[in-house]
Amino acid sequence: MVFDYDLYVIGGGSGGVRAARIASGEYGAKVALAEEYRMGGTCVIRGCVPKKLMVFASAYAGAIVDARSYGWAVEAAAFDWPAFRAKLDAELDRLEAAYRAGLAGANVTVHDTRATVVDPHTVRLATGETFTAKHILVATGGRPFVPEIAAGAGAMTSNDIFKLDALPKSVLIVGGGFIACEFACILNGLGVAVTQFYRGEQILRGFDGEARGHIAELMKESGINLHVGTDVIEMKPVEGGTWVKSTDGREAVFEKVVYATGRVPNTEGLGLVEVGVRLGRKGEVVVDGWSQTAVPSIYAVGDVTDRINLTPVAIREGHAFADTVFGAKPVKPDHALVASAVFTQPEFGTVGMTEEAARDERPIEVYATSFRPMQSAFAGRPDRVMMKLVVCAETRKVLGCHIVAPGAGEMIQLAAIAIKMGATKEDFDRTVAVHPVMAEELVTLRKPVRTA
Ligand SMILES: Cc1cc2nc3c(=O)[nH]c(=O)nc-3n(C[C@H](O)[C@H](O)[C@H](O)COP(=O)(O)OP(=O)(O)OC[C@H]3O[C@@H](n4cnc5c(N)ncnc54)[C@H](O)[C@@H]3O)c2cc1C
Repeated sequence: MVFDYDLYVIGGGSGGVRAARIASGEYGAKVALAEEYRMGGTCVIRGCVPKKLMVFASAYAGAIVDARSYGWAVEAAAFDWPAFRAKLDAELDRLEAAYRAGLAGANVTVHDTRATVVDPHTVRLATGETFTAKHILVATGGRPFVPEIAAGAGAMTSNDIFKLDALPKSVLIVGGGFIACEFACILNGLGVAVTQFYRGEQILRGFDGEARGHIAELMKESGINLHVGTDVIEMKPVEGGTWVKSTDGREAVFEKVVYATGRVPNTEGLGLVEVGVRLGRKGEVVVDGWSQTAVPSIYAVGDVTDRINLTPVAIREGHAFADTVFGAKPVKPDHALVASAVFTQPEFGTVGMTEEAARDERPIEVYATSFRPMQSAFAGRPDRVMMKLVVCAETRKVLGCHIVAPGAGEMIQLAAIAIKMGATKEDFDRTVAVHPVMAEELVTLRKPVRTA
């Protein structure tokens, strides 16, 4: 059978773009890609990139205060959101154009519209056109989940924060995951009065327990009104914002309410179930280790598969798919020991097992320290850094590393290489420290603080 394309990719985000570029640019496949919104997907348009730029913007408030402690005569400065937003929008336009240029350079045909699956080898565009392809790759990502109570009262999601015309005076952030915590810190840094509700007992569920507690304390110290074990039970739009009643009986009006209560895979109305693709409980596409679905010609990568929902993972999955299917280089994406960062202030870098998960599995030793780093101690700030190694008591291998510190995202990337290589505690110890930096503590942790 002759197909219009060798590969049809649905979704122009991290995973889809990488797969399309490698399949076409490196392996000469005839590839088309449909994107219904903006090229680059969540990471570039409403995720990692604009968020990190907002993290940078918000950090200047503290830096200005610190500068005075270091002898600089600086005046209090005001943050100009419209000026920042205009620059942010221009930067996202530039990045989107770069993504388009990359696809054009790799000879990928782009259809700027929504696509759905009609049969194992056919997609239909919202324009009504249909195309056949030997393989279809579903890379449609995810979207914020908004519960009914919030949708009816006009709550925002993280998508809307980047598009605000003006910064609100007050905001309620509902949720305790990394996106909720990052935006609580960003908005707090930009001068917004931030309240955060999380219904669970501690923020950042799934991460190392000690790190979670440490970050929660620092967030409170920085002025965020964080309430765990608290949820919204009633809310309605009122003059000047949204009236909210919470499970602890309190009532308050917030200028804006942001729901960051998780994300769901974009599979609704895609036609996948109808052609035999299996979906999981959250609506995620169920795939095997090769990212292949229950229909052999249809593959899926990235957040839509709800494996590890991070940009570099989506990129690896897309690349591995292209290598396997078009490059005759079968490779399974490796999901073990994926490091990540949470851009709270200070940052949290983490790789490997949490103390809680490791001690359920085997005997461990925990090496940890908490201290005031030189830079903030001199400035008179109370923040403390936390560093922790979880070590297998039998093999001596470092199973997990968790760092809460300024620049922890940068530190964990390097620690992850050693841990991925199977470094033992003694390998860390043999490494001579770099002085004076915070990360030197990682190679000078002498005695376990706990064994379990
Ligand atoms: C606020 C926020 C912050 C984040 N921060 C980080 C971070 O710091 N580090 C990190 O690693 N990850 C971060 N992430 C996660 C990261 O953005 C995602 O893991 C990554 O973008 C997933 O890539 P993807 O290709 O699977 O999907 P996406 O990037 O979401 O791309 C999917 C694309 O498909 C399009 N699409 C959907 N349905 C259709 C259809 N039917 N037809 C055509 N097009 C369609 C969408 O418009 C979208 O452009 C963040 C996410 C958010 C929301």
